[in-house]
Formats: sequence, structure tokens, C-alpha cells
Amino acid sequence: MAAWQFDIVLSHCRIVDGCGNPWYRGDVGVRGPRIGAIAAPGTLRGARSIVVGDRYVAPGFVDPHTHSDLSILVYPRADSALRQGVTTHVVGNCGMSAAPAVGRRLPDLQQLWEYYGFGDPRLGWKWRSFGAYLRAVAAAAPSINIAGLVGHGALRVAAMGFDERPARPEEQALMQRLLDESMRQGAFGLSTGLVYPPGCFATTEEIVALAAVAARHHGIYASHIRGERETILEAVAEAIRIGREGRLPVEVSHNAPKWGAPGGAAANLGLIEAARREGQDVTTDNDSHTDLAPRLSRALPQPVLDLPLEELFALLGDPRRRAQLKRDVEEDRLPGAGYTGLVRHHAFDRIAVLHAPGLPALTGRSIAAIAAERGVDPFDAFLDLIVETRDAAVGIFDYIDEDDIRALLSHPLSMCCSDGLVMPPCEELDDPSLYWPCSYGEYPGILERYVRDEPLLTLVPGAAVRPVRPWRPAARPGGRHRRLRPRAPTRPRHQPVPAQCPPGERAAPASRGHRLRAGQRAGRGRLRRAHGGAAGTSVAAPRRLSRRA
Ligand SMILES: [Zn+2]
Repeated sequence: MAAWQFDIVLSHCRIVDGCGNPWYRGDVGVRGPRIGAIAAPGTLRGARSIVVGDRYVAPGFVDPHTHSDLSILVYPRADSALRQGVTTHVVGNCGMSAAPAVGRRLPDLQQLWEYYGFGDPRLGWKWRSFGAYLRAVAAAAPSINIAGLVGHGALRVAAMGFDERPARPEEQALMQRLLDESMRQGAFGLSTGLVYPPGCFATTEEIVALAAVAARHHGIYASHIRGERETILEAVAEAIRIGREGRLPVEVSHNAPKWGAPGGAAANLGLIEAARREGQDVTTDNDSHTDLAPRLSRALPQPVLDLPLEELFALLGDPRRRAQLKRDVEEDRLPGAGYTGLVRHHAFDRIAVLHAPGLPALTGRSIAAIAAERGVDPFDAFLDLIVETRDAAVGIFDYIDEDDIRALLSHPLSMCCSDGLVMPPCEELDDPSLYWPCSYGEYPGILERYVRDEPLLTLVPGAAVRPVRPWRPAARPGGRHRRLRPRAPTRPRHQPVPAQCPPGERAAPASRGHRLRAGQRAGRGRLRRAHGGAAGTSVAAPRRLSRRA
């Protein structure tokens, strides 16, 4: 019997080729792990043929901002990505990568990962170089592609731990050498997380010098910028400056203005547009969530984030030092994370308790309501809960204006990201309430909310925007990698291009989009990340590292 030309043929589909072309009708032939041909409808034959009809077929989406660095080693099947059409995760974001690691500083690097609940020693942490890390990923045989950025935080802890000072020349030289080595070994660029320790302690010059190293290898610079609220414009300007002086493309990560600068998306995007007019390559990304669920203590100023728990409790128990801490939050000298804005501006009605071990009656109640009931100042109620739960209290911080998210997602210079990480199917979690929807539902959620329910974005090109742009991040990592061509080589004749999805049409063959209430979406979803590993899972069972040994 003659061998089939293709293993699978998707026939008569609407093809959105990911290059910015209008959709067109055709067959897609898959041979082994690759697309073997795209041809006119009804012309390809395969061992298995699936008539797709009016559903859309697109190349796998690239998720340009994830934190799957370690979880991909634990959940290499990556169901959470594949089931929403994502086939590539860019990892190493926000200044955090799993490599390079320097032996004696390994505990510092593991502490950096504590926030994501992946300090578990069972991960092995056998790798030291970036190349060795990539080999560990390859050995896990993941079902998605992984593109890794080198985290500035990883470089900085390797050179100088969490020291709150500028880098000395020899430390700067070590960071540059480690970055150079990592880029040679396959990294795609440099990332920073400038509201978190240790990135927040770095000068712009330190980062420019590192960016120049990444630039020599055609890398990019992706930044969780230094302040996403009141100082967001200065922070975006700093990112642009680093790209200009380091001579490399800039990606401003999850760029919605947080509480303290609501409505700021337009000015922020204006800076990026202006940089592009000057000839600089700057783009941005954002997820679709208005809230986040970190531990309450994560909203405290950076120097306090490094304290061992007992020291933190001693500080909060001393009235004089507690008053000073409150002033530090209000003054925000090192701009903290976005959700810190709610605490700084005393918006305690926008912070609800998601999980407070030993105090189940508080779940779902706002800090403002708890404070009123207790007859205390809301700021004190907030700090008291940190002590009462031994820093295990998790809050939902409702800190982003959805209009800013809309402005970003619909902007042509912006791409969609999840800011999630690969995780197992819900049923494999010990506690399904700790399920993280943005890791499974980000892309279906965007297609559901902003394409199907609200005509903010359109799936098909021909309109100004596309909800998911595999072509843009795919074209991102410089000249070393295959660029998508603007036209599919075997493209058949075009079909007419609808400017919008036809009324009543389901926008996409998207995986089951589960609609969650606003509070659930990112809030519950991000619990695992925020919870620092207290949320056990059946695999990996992330362990909370002791703070700052
Ligand atoms: Zn970030």
C-alpha cells in the first residue's frame, strides 16, 4: 500500500497563517512534527484527514511572557499551554531565570524562585550554565518550544547576592561574562525585574552595559519596568533608553499601568510609538487580568521582602518601626510592585482576603471591612494579618483598570501574554481551588471576552488588530532565527476578507473558554505563584524556602 503523503491533513480550513495575511481556505498537511504543505482545499491526502470546515487553523501561538522555567521540567507535557494553542513559551522573564547559577550563590537564586513556589530541592538544580539548563529542559522532552531569556536577577545574585548597592567593577564584569556565555549557549536575550530585589538595586548604567552584551548576540531586552504606577512613564523611558544605548530591541513586559496611574496606557503607548518613529524597535505585551493574588507581605517595600520571617514579625510588632514601615510604603522611594499602589493609596477596599490559614471567616472579605469590624486602622489590619497568619495570607489585589488592558491589547505594537506557567491538568492538583486560570485560560479568555463577546479585537486580519500575533514574537529574537515570511509560499487564492468576525460567528476554534468572575480570573489563578509554594501540588509539591538564610 502506498505510503500516505501526510500523517494528518486538516482539510477545508480557514487558515490564519500568522504572517498578517487575511484568512484563506485551504488544506494543511502535517508530516511528523512539521507542517509539510499548505494547499488548495481538498487537494491533500493523509493517513488521517480532519475536515475542519469553518473553524480556523493557525500556527501555534507564542506566549512571549511566561515563568515556566522550572515548571517545564516538572510538567513537560505542558497541557496548560497546548490546550490553548500555545506551542512556545518565552521564559526567563522579569529578571528571573533558572540559569546561570554560581555554586555558592545557588541558595540566593533558589530564593529568587521562592516567589513562584519552585524552590523545591527535588528539582535537582544540577545545572549551572545556561547551556546546561537548556540541556536539562531538552532531556525533559517538553511538548512545547522553550525560548529562554537570561534574568538580570539571576546574574546579579550570582555576582553579589541581594546586596542593596551598585555593582562593583569586578561584579559587573562577572555579570557580563555570565551573560555573554549564556547568549553563546542559546539564550535569546536579557530580562529585568526592576521592582523586585535584586533588580531594583541596579543602576540604569549597569543594565545598559549588560544589554550591550546581549546585543552583540542579537538578543532582545525584556523588562518588568522600574515602577508601573506613578512613575510608569519614567520607567518606560528607562527601558527605551536601555534599548537605545545598548542597541537592541526592547519588549516592555505586561505593561498595563497599575493602581496609582489608572488610565495611563495612552501616554505609555505614546512613548513607545515615539521611540519607533525614531527608528527604535520597541514593542510591549500584556495579559488580560485586572487583579493579582500575591501574599500580603509582597506589597511591602523591597528591603523588607528579604527579611527572615522572625525579623519581619519583630519589625511589625515594634510600634516605632511599624510606623516607619508605613511611611516607607507611602513614600515609595524604591517603587514597589504594581499592587503595592493599593496599599500606598490606602485602597484597602480593593484588597480582599483570598486565603488566610486559621482564619477562614475572612476569606472573601476586604481589608477595609475587616478593619472596620476590628475597629482598627485598615493599614494596621493589613499588617496584622501578615503576622497572624505567619505570612501565609494571600490577598486579591484589584489593581488594574480594564480600559487600560483594552487599550494595550488592541494596540498594534502590543502582543498578548499569559504571565503564567505550565502546570498539570486541574484534576491532578491536590487542591483544585488553587488552579491557575491564566495558565490554562489566557488565550481562550481573550478570544472569548475581547473577540466574541466584545468587539475589541478581531481574529482575522484585514482589520487593524489581531488578538494573537504569533508572527510578532516569532519575529522577535533577532536575525538568528527563522523569520516568518509575509506571505505563505503555497497560498491559494484569497477569500474575501471580513473586517470583523461575522455576527454570531464563534471567533475561534478556541479551547473551551471558561469564563470566570473577575475576582477569580487572575486572583485565584495566580495563587500558586503568589503563595510561594504553600499550595501543594501532586507533582513537585513546591516548598517554601526559608527566607534569606
Ligand atoms: Zn513581571
